[in-house]
Amino acid sequence: MLSRNLQEVIARIEKARIAYSRHHIVKIVAISKYHQVEEIRELYECGQRTFGENKVQDLKAKSEDLENLPLEWHFVGTLQSNKINALLCSPVSLIHSIHSLSIALELEKRLEREKKTLKALLQVNSANEQSKSGFSPNEALEKYIEILEKCPHLKLCGLMSIGAHSEQRSLVQKSFEITQRLFEELKPKGAEILSMGMSGDFEQAIACGSNLVRIGSLLFQKGRFL
Ligand SMILES: *Cc1c(COP(=O)(O)O)cnc(C)c1O
Repeated sequence: MLSRNLQEVIARIEKARIAYSRHHIVKIVAISKYHQVEEIRELYECGQRTFGENKVQDLKAKSEDLENLPLEWHFVGTLQSNKINALLCSPVSLIHSIHSLSIALELEKRLEREKKTLKALLQVNSANEQSKSGFSPNEALEKYIEILEKCPHLKLCGLMSIGAHSEQRSLVQKSFEITQRLFEELKPKGAEILSMGMSGDFEQAIACGSNLVRIGSLLFQKGRFL
């Protein structure tokens, strides 16, 4: 059943991607936060390999249950400093949500001690919403460069943003464009990943240059085609 969902999402991404540029490649992270390992396994069997969680304990538990599968795990939640050890013990390969200088410095300290590196994205609160974490657009560039310099074990490689929480497409568009502009400015600093777009707005995000979309409900919803 989930294969229909995945096929539909891939077809829609393909259309949006080609409209943006034939050379543009978009990767899907299946956000499995509300779903059990059996559903993750089902989506894996359809060909999906990358999954994202927003709680450290869920990422740990699910990745342990599925450790025999060649999955890639991303962390997309707001990281608290008391969860850093647990996160670094898990098989996480990308953290989307560096939301403060202090969390970056704490990760760096732990990574250095363990002689590890971890790829990460800086989260931009591009709609300036109280309910969201992340750097405001006017401090994002400066903080990105500061973290690059101070945190060599944290491999900062792009930006993540959640589109404006609004029914108004123009507000969502504005928030994506702000992040896109910052991303373009950071490309000379090695930024490669622009993580933008969820079930409700991924096509719009791809039109603004997103190359990593985080899709939850559209992929996992049962019975959409019954
Ligand atoms: C839940 C979540 C998503 C996926 O949302 P859907 O609307 O279900 O696709 C994407 N990004 C983050 C950070 C999330 O927490």
